Amino acid sequence: MRSICVLGSTGSIGVSTLDVVSRHPQDYRIVALSANSNVDTLYDQCIVHNPDYAVVVDHKKAGILQERLNRYPGSSTKVLAGAEALEEIAALPEVDTVMAAIVGAAGLMPTLAAARGGKRILLANKEALVMSGRILLKELADHGAELLPIDSEHNAIFQCMPADYRAGERDRKVRKILLTASGGPFRTKPLDEFDWITPEQAVAHPNWDMGRKISVDSATMMNKGLELIEACLLFNMDRKDVQIVIHPQSVIHSMVDYVDGSVLAQLGNPDMRIPIAHALAWPRRFESGAEPLDLFRVQRLDFEPADEQRFPCLKLAYQAVESGGNMPTALNAANEMAVASFLDRRIRYTDIVRVVDHCLNHAARNAADSLELVLETDRQVRNLANTYISANLAN
Ligand code: NAD
Ligand code: MG
Repeated sequence: MRSICVLGSTGSIGVSTLDVVSRHPQDYRIVALSANSNVDTLYDQCIVHNPDYAVVVDHKKAGILQERLNRYPGSSTKVLAGAEALEEIAALPEVDTVMAAIVGAAGLMPTLAAARGGKRILLANKEALVMSGRILLKELADHGAELLPIDSEHNAIFQCMPADYRAGERDRKVRKILLTASGGPFRTKPLDEFDWITPEQAVAHPNWDMGRKISVDSATMMNKGLELIEACLLFNMDRKDVQIVIHPQSVIHSMVDYVDGSVLAQLGNPDMRIPIAHALAWPRRFESGAEPLDLFRVQRLDFEPADEQRFPCLKLAYQAVESGGNMPTALNAANEMAVASFLDRRIRYTDIVRVVDHCLNHAARNAADSLELVLETDRQVRNLANTYISANLAN
């Protein structure tokens, strides 16, 4: 039996993780859960799973949750408060597996704590990897921690790699990675309507049901830019060897092109329980609860190149990865700020790329070879984005 800590258990990935775990009570025990502030969902999860610990980042809400749980007969969950408690539960000696499903930079420190604790990390939180790059990979290697990708594309690539492959290695027989993308809700929308896109339209993804931030990233395709950086790091590839392919059906979740001309793909319905179950059971397999794929219903698989005029965020991601150093950290921080401002209706959809572009051009450069430099870049770029938004864009 494995013991798991789910960071971000109240989010889309967190809920899907608990759904899969519930199907295999003999294989998994939930040791710890966490939420930013959604104590209603966390309370329900604590009643079902009775974890030893539940973390709420918001101190006041943590107190409310503890009081509610104390009144529930049989509950033995201890509630901890604050961001530091996330690091504590990720490193608990009784935990062997950590699902990293917090959204954004907030997930970095607990993911690093899991790496230092030598855990098996199921990584959904791509922002933590993009912003910290080789630092997270080095902590994994130094402490004998393992990483299994949850992002559907990277999980697919991992599945197409040789059986003894471990994330972070370079497989020299791989010629190219084909990173698929749905193209999001605005793949065919007339460009002159982009200024008027609302948060509701941007979060309505045609194939996937996800959190708000990643849904906006999918609409702008910044998500694919972040995933390109994620793929370069996880599979030790050059940016030129990762090709983005728009595949609107979201049935092929990515492909690996080998030197002999064989191209391996992983297919499945767009349901995150599939990669989650793969990583939970790895190296075995077990049921995920997802519907079996019906190819006669899918009927056709289409492919097209990504249009950089329609998706200018992609160009910025290429620029960041080619510049190296702290530019991926800057890209991520600027994008998080821009997307939050768009969701708050402070800026327009088409301003997102303006904010990121401004930040990449004005951020102080450094080598990003220490955690301090990464955190400093993150802080500085958030300030830079805020100032630019307030002075130039916010209505
Ligand atoms: P979500 O918004 O649905 O959930 C986010 C979770 O993080 C919640 O539990 C929330 O309480 C917690 N959280 C938010 N801010 C926090 C903070 N400051 N401190 C601590 N906890 C905080 O997001 P999601 O869609 O589940 O995505 C989670 C991660 O997984 C993201 O990095 C995303 O890119 C990645 N991912 C998601 C999907 C998907 O289908 N949803 C697919 C691939 C990758
Ligand atoms: Mg993905």
